[in-house]
Amino acid sequence: MEGLARTDTPDQTTPRPQPPLPARDWALFFDVDGCLLDFAAHPSDVIVPEGLQRHVLKLASMLDGALAIVSGRAIDALDETFPELQHLPAAGMHGLERREIHGQRTHAPKPPAALDTVLAEAIHVSSAHPGTLVERKGPNLAMHWRAATMPELARDAFRAFAAATLRLLPDYVVQGGDMVLELRPGGATPDKGDAVETFLMSPPFAGRVPVFVGDDLTDEHAFSVVNERGGLSVLVGAREPSVARWHLADPASVRAWIARAAAHDGASA
Ligand SMILES: [Mg+2]
Repeated sequence: MEGLARTDTPDQTTPRPQPPLPARDWALFFDVDGCLLDFAAHPSDVIVPEGLQRHVLKLASMLDGALAIVSGRAIDALDETFPELQHLPAAGMHGLERREIHGQRTHAPKPPAALDTVLAEAIHVSSAHPGTLVERKGPNLAMHWRAATMPELARDAFRAFAAATLRLLPDYVVQGGDMVLELRPGGATPDKGDAVETFLMSPPFAGRVPVFVGDDLTDEHAFSVVNERGGLSVLVGAREPSVARWHLADPASVRAWIARAAAHDGASA
């Protein structure tokens, strides 16, 4: 039964099972776009379904607060999207900024001066590709083509632009995502895996079974971290390859899972 061997090679051939309902000793981490929420053409157009925030809060209290949002978005943008979750721990910009359990904030480093020039040039590239979007998030610059009329052309243009731009931003790296490219500070820059590891170092997360739910390429770092620690990595959607070992079909399934957990009141211990 070598097909059942569980390794971190991204060539899962057996179907991934659905995760069980959350247990009280879990530490839960949620990505946002494509996970808690369905994608929208523009990141600010996402719809937060009725009841979701209430269910997430219930789940957080069942886990004694060991629930955090881990997103590529800035924390301020997360707070705008989820006004009822503003006191929950969060990692924004893939962990560049953080909010701990008691509300202490770590802010992203100041962006380099050249970023303004790069932003103007990125907007120029975007203007030639209808439906694309350039988004500035602190020191990060994201280029989206999800709603582009010609997505492959837009992707190629942004890829070429990003590669050429590294000359102006020598400390930056290009981070690929799902219909998005991001220019972000490299080197010791945290990824979502680092963000999860940092949460797991202190209460209420420390000592719990880590569980990460996400859909994107950038969530793979976090999947690896929870796999190494005997936790559950939950892939949302059908992106492959992935090191995730569990699966939920789409954001609606994630929300239904959260709602069932909140209703279940954590009887599974
Ligand atoms: Mg996502």
